[in-house]
Amino acid sequence: MTFDYDLFVIGGGSGGVRAARVASATGAKVGLAEEFRMGGTCVIRGCVPKKLMVFASHYSEAFADARAYGWDVEDGTFHWSRFQKKLHAELDRLEGIYRKLLDGSGVEIFDSRARLKDPHTVALADGKEVTAKHILVATGGRPVLPEIDGAELGITSNDIFNLAELPKNILIVGGGYIASEFACILNGLGVNVTQYYRGAQILRGFDDEARALVAEGMKAKGIDLHLGTNIVEMREATADDIKGVSEGVPMEDGKPAQLPQKGVGKGIWVKSTNGNEHVFDQVMFATGRAPNTNDMGLEEAGVEVGRRGEAVVDEYSQTAVPSIYAIGDVTNRVQLTPVAIREGMAFVETVFKGNPTPVDHELIPSAIFTQPELGTVGLSEEDAREQEPVEIYCTSFKPMNHAFADREDRVLMKLVVSKESRKVLGCHIVADQAGEMIQLAGIAVKMGATKEDFDRTVAVHPTMAEELVTMKEPMRTA
Ligand code: NDP
Repeated sequence: MTFDYDLFVIGGGSGGVRAARVASATGAKVGLAEEFRMGGTCVIRGCVPKKLMVFASHYSEAFADARAYGWDVEDGTFHWSRFQKKLHAELDRLEGIYRKLLDGSGVEIFDSRARLKDPHTVALADGKEVTAKHILVATGGRPVLPEIDGAELGITSNDIFNLAELPKNILIVGGGYIASEFACILNGLGVNVTQYYRGAQILRGFDDEARALVAEGMKAKGIDLHLGTNIVEMREATADDIKGVSEGVPMEDGKPAQLPQKGVGKGIWVKSTNGNEHVFDQVMFATGRAPNTNDMGLEEAGVEVGRRGEAVVDEYSQTAVPSIYAIGDVTNRVQLTPVAIREGMAFVETVFKGNPTPVDHELIPSAIFTQPELGTVGLSEEDAREQEPVEIYCTSFKPMNHAFADREDRVLMKLVVSKESRKVLGCHIVADQAGEMIQLAGIAVKMGATKEDFDRTVAVHPTMAEELVTMKEPMRTA
């Protein structure tokens, strides 16, 4: 049987684009359909614009730091519209690069929604149908709103980059990556941030000491973090709500500090689980993401869809239908761009290069771009001690740059070490640039470095990371 394509990719995000390009380079005839903008979540409404906002938000502290270092500078004013214009120009540029890369690799692009019709046929939105020997589903995920009355009044991370103006105050719901990162970003940009997290501590699953230090740092920088708290109901605020809120609200320049800002929505009234009622300019939900499998024709084509809506795949990213593969967030394995890219490359290696390559999901380093930043690889102390006896090497200190600037921010460097094999099972860093540090520490941990390997490495002085190779005695064993 002949097909129109050797490979048809649905979804032009990081994973789909990489797989299409690399497959095409093997001589395969490749088509790719994307319904929105090329680049997907990471480039258009995720990692890239988020990181640029992280950079922007850091400047609010830089003025005070500069003064502490002898500079004569005033606090500046942040202009959202100025930043936003540049941000979108940058995203347009990056999207252009993605398109050019696909074009240059000979991949045929369809700016269209696509769905599966059968194991070898994809139906495009204009009614056209194409056939392919292999189909790769790389449709990513989307933010989900919780089932709360009035939740539709809230925004998600998808909306944040397109706000006409920044709210004066915002309630962020959730305690994961996105909630915590945006709480810090918006706080840095001058927005009054309240964060509700339903659990006992934000960043569930990460090392307890590390997440506690991040949470403390966030609170010290002004984020009003409420743990064990959720929204019970919400609705558009009425004049009475706003009046009610203004009573008892601290006054600022003769006006209530917390009133919804004119022109930024009408204000949203929120009742929380602790019985409190508040009015916020905006409510942002960062309560998790769901795989994009709705109306994709997956089940009709025979692909198994899991409980969370994910395309179920094996270690080679193959679905129950031999011709259909899926990679990235749509499979709900590890929701990280570099993982989707790895899965795309492994797929091409397996299917187009005759070299079956399972995807390695072990010891993935990652960073949470909160302020302070958290970089992590391997097991948390809590998970490690469930598995085997461990030694914990840990130090927390005020780094010299912050001490000089009279800032309170503390740093944490932590190694979780196997008592028996001496291997470093986990490394956790809370510090400026922790993401950069953990990328490098991640190589050592992935290679199976022991504590003694770390010790044999000469310190780079004066740095924060030198503490990773100079911790002599375990703080505790567990
Ligand atoms: P996460 O799964 O990380 O966090 C979701 C949060 O929402 C959790 O705190 C969860 O609480 C809470 N939650 C879930 N349902 C409800 C509910 N009904 N009511 C109240 N709270 C609720 O998802 P995110 O949306 O933050 O991020 C999605 C993924 O994107 C991440 O897992 C990560 O892989 C990726 N990402 C990575 C980044 C990076 O590498 N820096 C940055 C941003 C995203 P609980 O803990 O109790 O379940």
